[in-house]
Amino acid sequence: ARTFFVGGNFKANGSIKSIQGILDNLNGAKLDPNTEVVIAPPSIFLLTTAEKASNGVKVSAQNVFHKPDGAWTGELTTKMLVEHGIEWVILGHSERRTLFHETSELVADKTKAALDAGLNVILCIGETLEERDAGKTLDVCCSQLKAVADKIQDWSKVVIAYEPVWAIGTGKVATTEQAQEAHEGIRQWLSSSVSADVAAATRILYGGSVTEKNCKDLATQPDIDGFLVGGASLKPAFVDIINSKL
Ligand code: 13P
Repeated sequence: ARTFFVGGNFKANGSIKSIQGILDNLNGAKLDPNTEVVIAPPSIFLLTTAEKASNGVKVSAQNVFHKPDGAWTGELTTKMLVEHGIEWVILGHSERRTLFHETSELVADKTKAALDAGLNVILCIGETLEERDAGKTLDVCCSQLKAVADKIQDWSKVVIAYEPVWAIGTGKVATTEQAQEAHEGIRQWLSSSVSADVAAATRILYGGSVTEKNCKDLATQPDIDGFLVGGASLKPAFVDIINSKL
């Protein structure tokens, strides 16, 4: 069975004080021991977050560069994350694809570099509203995945996050049916294009306006293996999302 997984993507939010508050809340909460929890603060908070997080909570970067240490102003390398005990990295988030022009090829290069360095990857994919309306949801998701599948063999350290762009930060959560349908299609693609074993073992998370109110319903779906949470991960109710299965 796939271990339920809940990630918190803080994006560019937080202060020393607010992140300490989030950690105090998580460290003191009763968290479902059967759920894997990973939080991704802005990079400047990675070290203190990793030092202070307990209760089984792991820490993720929100991005990493794919080349070795060098002249890449403003970037962090995989080696730096590993040296500091950061075990996870989010790659291919739609905000990076859109605002920072990351192509699927670059996301694939980053995924390969991260895995080669021993990091675990939360790989984000998802369609825009225009693409959904044109009936291209699975085409888009699978072509984003194919770019990665062309460059990696081992999927054991990859968690896929399906995040429809129209649901991110909009309050418009996908319906359970829409999410399950996309997740099932993504899993079928993994089965036919990678392997049945990888399809069966790989966690597929849903992301986009997940709250403590809609998480329980989504979590009942057979192909939804957890969540990648933005806004709600900054609030105390993040604990309720972690505990969706209880
Ligand atoms: P929201 O939960 O704020 O919609 O963000 C989702 C997201 O982008 C997580 O990576």
